[in-house]
Amino acid sequence: MLNHERLRAKYLRTVRSESYRMLKRYTDDLLKRAETAQTIGDVQAQAAREIDTVGIELLLTKIYKRVGADFAKLTIKDLNSQKAQRIEIDYWEDYFVSYSRTKLGQKISWIAGTTKQVMEDVVSRLGTIAGTEGWSIATYRNKLQEEFTFMNRYRAERIARTEIMVASNVGTLEGGRNSGIPVKKRWEPIVDQWSRPDHAAMEGVDPIGIDELFNVGGVMMQQPGDEAGGAEHVINCRCGLAIVPDTTYEDILNR
Ligand SMILES: [Zn+2]
Repeated sequence: MLNHERLRAKYLRTVRSESYRMLKRYTDDLLKRAETAQTIGDVQAQAAREIDTVGIELLLTKIYKRVGADFAKLTIKDLNSQKAQRIEIDYWEDYFVSYSRTKLGQKISWIAGTTKQVMEDVVSRLGTIAGTEGWSIATYRNKLQEEFTFMNRYRAERIARTEIMVASNVGTLEGGRNSGIPVKKRWEPIVDQWSRPDHAAMEGVDPIGIDELFNVGGVMMQQPGDEAGGAEHVINCRCGLAIVPDTTYEDILNR
């Protein structure tokens, strides 16, 4: 069985800095446009503009292509299915590039929406303080820069941890599906004081069919990180998916 927590850890540093750079590109872009602003209202108008999603798409594709593909391969290797291990070398990278293009639309617009919202909130919150304290426009811009850096660090950490978790579990599921042997899947929570009670309750629940849905406190999910669970089941979740050979008692007796 794969140790998800340990395996995911090796991606964190890189994905965190890639996520930070992605977010910084959006806030830098706003600060650049704010350079010519005469008033706080001008900056607020700039912050209200729609943002493009290119940076977010590129980041997610990179994460899923790397983490998803690695976990699919590791899962197949772990199940020791020689036939499935012979799948073409680039198959999984290609699979996850196309997965990112077709399956992540909702996530991309969600991250874009939050990014815009965070910038608007910071601009407006500091704008109020600027008004009461009588800041110059230059001071206001400096404070915006500081606050954006802080917010970007915090969000980069959360995006990196969450997306590594989702990509690793999707990779594990797809690896299991393509393992060439009959398999089931099991939800593997990390149980500690930070666990969601509904997720911790999945501990010890019997494996289900690879295409069946887990009932997570009344919410049906394909695997940990499944978008169907909504943000409240996905953000900062640390659960893993285990793929187990679907061996019957009869099979064991016949060995
Ligand atoms: Zn969880």
